[in-house]
Amino acid sequence: GSIADSITRSVETVADTVTAPFGDPVIRLGVTGLSRAGKTVFITSLVANLLDRARMPQLVAEAEGRILAAYLQPQPDDTMPRFDYESHLGALTAAQPRWPESTRAVSQLRLSLKLRPTGLLAGVSGARKVHLDIVDYPGEWLLDLGLMDKSYTDWSLETLGRLPHRPGGGAYLDMARAEDATARLDEPRAKALAARFTQALHSAREAGFSDCTPGRFLLPGEKEGSPALTFAPLPPLDDAPRQSLWREMQRRYEAYKSQIVKPFFRDHFSRIDRQVVLVDALGAIHAGPAAVEDLRRTMAEILTAFRPGANAFLRQILLGKRVEKILFAATKADHLHHTQHARLTAIMEALTREARDRARFAGAQTGAMSIAALRATVEQTLPHQGAQLDCVRGTLLNADGTRGREAAFHPGELPQDPARLLGPARDGAEKWLGDDYAIMRFAPAPLTLRPNEGPPHIRIDRAAQFLLGDRL
Ligand code: GDP
Repeated sequence: GSIADSITRSVETVADTVTAPFGDPVIRLGVTGLSRAGKTVFITSLVANLLDRARMPQLVAEAEGRILAAYLQPQPDDTMPRFDYESHLGALTAAQPRWPESTRAVSQLRLSLKLRPTGLLAGVSGARKVHLDIVDYPGEWLLDLGLMDKSYTDWSLETLGRLPHRPGGGAYLDMARAEDATARLDEPRAKALAARFTQALHSAREAGFSDCTPGRFLLPGEKEGSPALTFAPLPPLDDAPRQSLWREMQRRYEAYKSQIVKPFFRDHFSRIDRQVVLVDALGAIHAGPAAVEDLRRTMAEILTAFRPGANAFLRQILLGKRVEKILFAATKADHLHHTQHARLTAIMEALTREARDRARFAGAQTGAMSIAALRATVEQTLPHQGAQLDCVRGTLLNADGTRGREAAFHPGELPQDPARLLGPARDGAEKWLGDDYAIMRFAPAPLTLRPNEGPPHIRIDRAAQFLLGDRL
């Protein structure tokens, strides 16, 4: 945009992060993570536990009795979809509880807190208000940032290069190589290529790979079927004729960047103050070393998005604004007995440290944790072959979504030393989290909440303290 445009935007950005129209401070908390990482469950449980805080002892403002009230408010952005908190909580708290519908696109919710003032003014001033705007968006979209400074040729080379190592990749590769990309564009061919490529991305995702860009191919939002989402990588061509398949694919790739990726970063991402990145680390560890390796790279890539200056495009839209805190949280820790949680946290810490180094990241404060937004299991220690085995017990979810049998599981041990999993000494053949983990898809447990009590969780209060504590 023009200089005038960016100046207006920077003034707006500064104005609405520091104060709301009525002068109350606003914290914009971004919640992201790849699909199925647990964003919807996290936001629903966080909000429920901020509204009813009996299970939030690690949130210091709550422990000190300074939170006088918490309530939901109409959100300030009229054109932004609202996070459907009530339906999601309804699903989790029904007599036959269900997991809520997962995040498909960006949405937002405003929760306001009334706080007893502290410090010098404590005695004289009235209650303070802080608004928390929670912004939910797919992590897949965040990874698209990596495309912004990549040409179609470079992106194609890189993408085609990793397809042979991924499930479903070979089928697309054969198709792309057989294509005469100099021929005039034929829409059904373009569609077929894009469809096969999308299939390969889905297969890679299912096999536990994290970096499956373009992100909109997995979660298209409302732009599904448009030309900007109907392209695919093709082997480089130096002088493809005008109107050829190759030229048109290149044009659509550029349209994807400028008309889909860019507006998301400009309108949503650029306004975030604090960020939580949810990571299904257990899923990746169970999927095996290639998935863990991919997760390491992906975390570094995510961090680059929060390193202003790393990317010319970002520098231009962020205009000096930066995210202050980023929490990487391993989700679904209720799949493990608490005796394993420290190991999971150590793995997350190692991954985060690594990602910081790889991304040469200096800036926001980063943290790592293992959490469960909604605890679906209870712990149980069972005798097994003369020893005591630490298990978790829960109700399995059938493939058709109905509740299955209740059972206790021991998903195996995580390595004591994260280097066994992540370091150069890792043994490719070593398998962490056994076969039990593969069937551990739990249904949410029926809840009987006492007044003032949110849903049971693991360390969501610590996560809230890290992300917001200093502003409450
Ligand atoms: P999203 O795609 O990031 O919005 O992911 P969701 O929040 O919809 O979560 C995806 C699935 O992960 C859920 O349907 C649950 O099966 C599972 N899940 C999410 N959070 C938890 C948790 O705290 N504990 C357990 N046991 N499962 C969870």
